Amino acid sequence: MTQSWGYAAQQATTPLAPFSFSRRDPKEHDVAVQIEYCGVCHSDIHSTRNEWKNAIYPMIPGHEIIGRVTSVGSAVKKFKAGERVGVGVIVDSCRTCSSCQAGEEQYCEVGMTLTYGAQDKYGDLTQGGYSNNIVTDEHFVHRVSEKLDPAGVAPLLCAGITTYSPLRHWKVGPGKKVGVVGLGGLGHMALKFAHSFGAHVVQFTTSASKIADAKRLGADDVVISKDADAMKKEANSFDFIIDTVSAVHDLNEYLPLIKRDGVYCQVGLPEEPPTVHMGNLLFKRRNLSGSIIGGMAETQEMLDYCAEHNITSDVEVISIDKINEAFERVVKADVKYRFVIDMSTLKKA
Ligand SMILES: [Zn+2]
Ligand SMILES: [Zn+2]
Repeated sequence: MTQSWGYAAQQATTPLAPFSFSRRDPKEHDVAVQIEYCGVCHSDIHSTRNEWKNAIYPMIPGHEIIGRVTSVGSAVKKFKAGERVGVGVIVDSCRTCSSCQAGEEQYCEVGMTLTYGAQDKYGDLTQGGYSNNIVTDEHFVHRVSEKLDPAGVAPLLCAGITTYSPLRHWKVGPGKKVGVVGLGGLGHMALKFAHSFGAHVVQFTTSASKIADAKRLGADDVVISKDADAMKKEANSFDFIIDTVSAVHDLNEYLPLIKRDGVYCQVGLPEEPPTVHMGNLLFKRRNLSGSIIGGMAETQEMLDYCAEHNITSDVEVISIDKINEAFERVVKADVKYRFVIDMSTLKKA
């Protein structure tokens, strides 16, 4: 076994605290990674606090992982020691079902294995990236360019691919009018990608204080969603809207803004189901859709695209001992736009 340490939640109501555990020794297809940076995703908070009612403890969260390969199994061809790599939200899937065969491992019919808080095929509890190392099958490890700031790359593994994938799937590009709802970790990446793909991008926000930042991040226009007249002016005009908000909110304010046959895509996961007035879908044949992360090939494509176009997340780097404070600030949306933990600050417990 590989001796490991990190910061874990022991139960839903306790703060994260130092924790020692062990990981499997690398098997023939495994890559062992020393973790350099790990992003702080809102899911980490939902999960460690058992807000999705499926937590298994002790739980080390973290699924936006950047690090360097320390060793590889005998059958690994793709990676060698010393290379910079990333690990995202999932670490295994069945590899044989129709979704896996299509390169959409995140929709595995048997069920994907999450990077933390899940039981893997060896019967071990998976533990995430708020730790010194990780051992993962090479299929779920991605190459990361040395050209980019590794702290800014970490959030691409969840926030990045979660927005990149639906924008690509629904063919966002030149000539398309695209809306982004919410300007947080996901929203700021959606802005950067939609702008980079050549679309006309409109940020929706409740707060006028975010206008300048939205424009800096790639918005052509900003609409204050509380301004009913401004919202009315946008009716039937959008090809695509990506909704990154995970708090409960009213989709019926946004659906009428979609043009005929356009798509409203939800990537935030509110705790309570929304009410949708079906008339908002029927009368313009509008589509209400959802999406989670992306497949492994697409995640690599996204990372390569970011290296080529110099795209990273806007981050605030913290030391691991500030993690509980950071969680509170994420809940209050008080971060621009993602916390990333410098894992060199993690000392052996
Ligand atoms: Zn995430
Ligand atoms: Zn599968």
